[in-house]
Amino acid sequence: MTKLLLHVCCAPCAVYPTDFLLIRNYDITLFFYNPNIHPFREFQKRKESVEIFAENHNLPVLIDVQYRLTEFIRSVVFREKSRCSVCQQMRIKETALFAKNNGFDAFSTSLLYSKYQNHEEIRQQCLDLSKSLGIQFFYHDFREGWKIGIESSIAQGLYRQSYCGCIYSEQDRYDKSLRKKGKDNGEHDRSGYQQ
Ligand code: SF4
Repeated sequence: MTKLLLHVCCAPCAVYPTDFLLIRNYDITLFFYNPNIHPFREFQKRKESVEIFAENHNLPVLIDVQYRLTEFIRSVVFREKSRCSVCQQMRIKETALFAKNNGFDAFSTSLLYSKYQNHEEIRQQCLDLSKSLGIQFFYHDFREGWKIGIESSIAQGLYRQSYCGCIYSEQDRYDKSLRKKGKDNGEHDRSGYQQ
């Protein structure tokens, strides 16, 4: 049985990948490492939701309880436009490293479920880390289960957030003038995340 560390960005996004892997007999551990979630109360809500999800499914879960706002902001400041690449890399790298150093056979991420993320870039970042660290990466296009995941997360009563995570995306979500500007520039729209 393959021992797999699954990075989870939030509980709703973890639903479909978790079911997919369990049906195929993977021995999975959930890994919540998301310094990108702000502000603190939102971080707490998403963390608690993942804990509830893990408990309901009787799954082991590892939670990074530290609220790493400063660390995150320092890593994206002055490169806000490319912040998502930095953000994804930060979370995936920590997952791959943890998997490598703690006896896991492979790693993957629920980021591959989201229609609002840059799927191909995430896949490539995972492949590169897999190669450089010498740990297997499990790839699947979990977006195929987009609708199923949403319906199931609602049925399970999981907390569903209204923006991607960082304070920049919170502004994108609620500042109408920014949303319009982003659309006009053809930017990737993460503002409707998890609605
Ligand atoms: S919009 Fe989402 S993916 Fe991009 S930096 Fe913010 S939290 Fe990370």
